[in-house]
Amino acid sequence: MKPAWNRLAIALNAVLLVSGTPVLASISPTPLGKGGKVSSTPTQPNPSQTENIPDRQPTETPTFELEASSSRLATIIEQRRKLIEADRLHQAGQHAAAEKLYREVKQPFTTPIEVKQRPEPIIDATQLSPAGKVYWREAAAGIAQNLQTKTLVPLRLLVEQYPQFILGHLQLATALNKHGHPEEAIDVLERATSLYPNQPDLVKAKIEAFVAQKKWMEASLAARRFAILNPNQPSAAEFTLLADRHLEQYKRHMRRELRGNAIANVITGVAGYALTGSLLGPLSAVQTSTMLLRGESSIGKSIAKDAREQLPMVEDQMVIDYVNELGQKLAKATGRNDFQYEFHVVLDDNLNAFALPGGKVFINAGAISKTESEAELAGLLAHELSHAVLSHGFQLVTEGNLLANVTQYIPYGGTVTNLFAMRYSRDMEREADALGTRLIAANGYAADGLRDLLVTLKEQEKGGEPPAWLSSHPPTGDRIRYVEELIQRNGYNRYTYEGVARHAEIKARVKKILIHKELITKKKHHR
Ligand SMILES: [Zn+2]
Repeated sequence: MKPAWNRLAIALNAVLLVSGTPVLASISPTPLGKGGKVSSTPTQPNPSQTENIPDRQPTETPTFELEASSSRLATIIEQRRKLIEADRLHQAGQHAAAEKLYREVKQPFTTPIEVKQRPEPIIDATQLSPAGKVYWREAAAGIAQNLQTKTLVPLRLLVEQYPQFILGHLQLATALNKHGHPEEAIDVLERATSLYPNQPDLVKAKIEAFVAQKKWMEASLAARRFAILNPNQPSAAEFTLLADRHLEQYKRHMRRELRGNAIANVITGVAGYALTGSLLGPLSAVQTSTMLLRGESSIGKSIAKDAREQLPMVEDQMVIDYVNELGQKLAKATGRNDFQYEFHVVLDDNLNAFALPGGKVFINAGAISKTESEAELAGLLAHELSHAVLSHGFQLVTEGNLLANVTQYIPYGGTVTNLFAMRYSRDMEREADALGTRLIAANGYAADGLRDLLVTLKEQEKGGEPPAWLSSHPPTGDRIRYVEELIQRNGYNRYTYEGVARHAEIKARVKKILIHKELITKKKHHR
């Protein structure tokens, strides 16, 4: 056992040195390979050559800094050794002993769980404060007299000052509908469900509001999302049924609409593609409709195929199997079996990933080389998977946002790397962080895998540009706090399987592949 650890520690040294982690303060965390420049980090893949760490430091590094960083390196290696032993104990069924070690290594969260900023929802009007009761009574009088202003004004004030009063939102939406403001009613319910996403009555009202406006796809998506995010609510099954029913309604409606456009329809199948040479090209309304009718899975499938052809892919079977095994395991727990899940690895050393509709997930090789454990990588996969499972990308398609994206990023023969990473809303990111964390916890991984990855990303932001996919995400600090709160509130276990040893093995393999690619690129450059 001991020699194996030593070998691993040496390998980890090499890994740390090659990755340019913040351990080495003098080396910029900018990813290798940008602009074909290789940093001063040693890139020999042979671990034995990097055994002597201090000699590898750039000569101008002051001695004290050198000592500090090598002692920090020693700490990291020691912690890594402990985690590997903890994983071994865990897998041998010695959970208490494993947990003890995990606790020794893992620091408590820096942000203790805060008193919940958002007040608990109240259902009953008798629980309102005296001022709230006055608004509620005023509104009731307005409703009885069928007076628009007398109804809407107190209800608006009520919702603004007591957003925790669920009935207030519902009543305001009803009144808005009744007085001919259905769009505003939807806005009210969108806001309310964003504040209290677990309230089935609010979500149901939102779905009804969509249906009233013949927005069946939106209705279906909202219902599906609620069912997936709240699997333990008694009404979850009912929401799944609603989702299916409204999707059928949508399809029926679209088929009727498209019948009159049969010719346009045939052209769109091939023309956009042939004319622009890009994935989707500028699409007409009919094209979009056809695409939506074919459905989520089919859209993802065709884009994924093109993505695989356009992007350089990692072909190494061991790496592919590893990512696929993790991904499929997570996918099983999502509660959506209408997708064919696929996981692909793009030959690119930036920490990045994206998900296509229908469960096609792409991660960069850099996401493997820059994570420290299986739990962290699972966190990233689960986050992306969640975007797919919650139909976030598909929703962007239905809203037409994707089209702007497509034409912006891949006008002619460009690549799809940044295609889907960009436009998710804040709420979508939160949902993906929440479901992602739940998925890794449900699969027996340390529940803070995604959280730890976010911490790494935050470190990376300090040193320079954040990865592209982060720029539109909520601030990383907020996301870390949110995930930490989630873990604590739900009692998810962070002191369990990390998967360090196996991950290190795959990571070393990926680094070799990336270095090889780097060398080839350089050769081409010098030709
Ligand atoms: Zn995301």
